[in-house]
Amino acid sequence: MEKCSFCGRSEKDVNMLISGISGHICDSCVEQAHGILNEDSKNKTSFSTDEIKLLKPKQIKEFLDQYIIGQNDAKKFLSVAVYNHYKRLTQKDNLDEIEIEKSNIIMVGPTGTGKTLLAKTIAKMLHVPFSIVDATVLTEAGYVGEDIESILSRLLQSADYNVASAERGIVFIDEIDKIARKGDNPSITRDVSGEGVQQGLLKLLEGSIVNVPPQGGRKHPDQKMIAVNTKNILFICGGAFDGIERKIGQRLNTSMVGFNSAKDVAQLDRKNLMQYISPQDLKSFGLIPEIIGRLPVLTYLEPLDREALRLILTQPKNSIVKQYTKLFEMDGIELTFEDEALEYIVSKAVEFQLGARGLRSICEVIMIDAMYELPSSRKKILNVNEAYAKEKLEKADIARLKAA
Ligand code: ADP
Repeated sequence: MEKCSFCGRSEKDVNMLISGISGHICDSCVEQAHGILNEDSKNKTSFSTDEIKLLKPKQIKEFLDQYIIGQNDAKKFLSVAVYNHYKRLTQKDNLDEIEIEKSNIIMVGPTGTGKTLLAKTIAKMLHVPFSIVDATVLTEAGYVGEDIESILSRLLQSADYNVASAERGIVFIDEIDKIARKGDNPSITRDVSGEGVQQGLLKLLEGSIVNVPPQGGRKHPDQKMIAVNTKNILFICGGAFDGIERKIGQRLNTSMVGFNSAKDVAQLDRKNLMQYISPQDLKSFGLIPEIIGRLPVLTYLEPLDREALRLILTQPKNSIVKQYTKLFEMDGIELTFEDEALEYIVSKAVEFQLGARGLRSICEVIMIDAMYELPSSRKKILNVNEAYAKEKLEKADIARLKAA
């Protein structure tokens, strides 16, 4: 009677016996071996600090430069913060009891200037799980909207439910300005999407063990929870903070009065007050001091001017123009853009006040006909000049673009 060479059970005691050159294996041993393999590969994918490519701040910035135009201050702050964060993770034993604190980041700047792109690019560089959440959907537990814990559900999903890996990930919280306290007196009405959310968020930022519903959304009483420690998760927050320049201006004016120094006031770059942003301004805007304290790295992004928009079209490693060229190349079509056409696209983005976000939608309108027709035509060359771009854009419903 043939037997399994692994467990010794005979053919009649198993469902199936598979024969090899000099032995046999039963179905349950196959299952077991499969389990061992799975477990092993899981261990290998779990986090080890050695696996993170720890680049020096200058190298991190160089990496960011490949994808993001301008925003040098923000890049510098981010590079240092990320470097320190991961240095903190690799700190093995803490004999001298100097504990390096986490460097969560807050980026302030107009929409469409690259805040999300910066956070995404950092995560790409580090090969760590990354998730984006919109603070506007968050509400205090018990109210309509998503619980704070859903932030971590997303991160777990992007880490394929590998808790160890998620615990070293990066979370980008967009529109953090939208959970600012609405009024100066928080007690008049319940502020379920404002201060209450900030208090909830604080728990995550500080570093604590949070029970996370795996699927996100609402908690169900019978849902199995996963415990996630947020101690080593890097939080990057972003927001436009519309109108914060006024608060910066007010602060600068009052602080200048004491010195009676007309010269200093004159030296201020009035057009771009954002560069003088300080934690006090976030407080005047309505973030609670505890939250500000947990976001020690504060940096700003500049509005994108014509020149920056023009560079964004062609320079970044995966710029819009490079993406279209690649798409057409896959169909064997050679696509070129004339400089005047690119200038035209930039002017339209400026005119519609759509910023960098607009570049993509304008290009899409210009390219749609060609993308539809050329793959099934014999034409193998397309040169987009100003006249072509103009014709396509004017033909399209411009009002629709403006409304976007
Ligand atoms: P924000 O988060 O600041 O609102 P995003 O990072 O989402 O803006 O930017 C929207 C899009 O605009 C990005 O996907 C990117 O293509 C483009 N973009 C914005 N700013 C830049 C920049 N500084 N460099 C390159 N591309 C940019």
